[in-house]
Amino acid sequence: MRFDVTALLRAPVGSVQTYRLEGEPSASGAAGLGKQVTGSVSLLRTGEGILATAHLQVRVAESCGRCLKPVSVPLEVDFQEEYLPTVDHETGSRLAVAEAGDGFVIDDRQVLDLTEAVRQYGLAAQPLQALCRPDCKGLCPACGQDLNRGPCSCDAEATEPPMHAVARVTADESKTGNIRRE
Ligand SMILES: [Zn+2]
Ligand SMILES: [Zn+2]
Repeated sequence: MRFDVTALLRAPVGSVQTYRLEGEPSASGAAGLGKQVTGSVSLLRTGEGILATAHLQVRVAESCGRCLKPVSVPLEVDFQEEYLPTVDHETGSRLAVAEAGDGFVIDDRQVLDLTEAVRQYGLAAQPLQALCRPDCKGLCPACGQDLNRGPCSCDAEATEPPMHAVARVTADESKTGNIRRE
């Protein structure tokens, strides 16, 4: 996710470089986000720096929120951020403008690194609960069996209330019981 922007910094304002990423390994994989990055990045030379526009799909390793199976979740990561140079590309002297801000910067070797932005926007795009499939049945809370592979032996007892209890419940309570059974 690192782009050498030496040439682009020397180019006139409005110049654009575009990149297509095909399963690019992301350096942020170590942080638990982004094994592979696909999509497009365009870098536009602005008056002050470079405006990066990214439309990326990042595959994230997660575990299913119901059955704990490992799943690979595709995240749409779209962002636009301006990167400011830290050194003057002609003189090599440090620029105060970038140091003062807390935005993204181009390092002193004229490398623009998207890794941190992808990580931040990727975290924001992450689902609260990843599922291996929308209708995952999860694990039995009693015995821990993966119910996607079929019902476990404690299933029948857990979900069928005893006959005498059924006879006593009111209409409302039986509705609640139905919800619990699902
Ligand atoms: Zn699952
Ligand atoms: Zn069970």
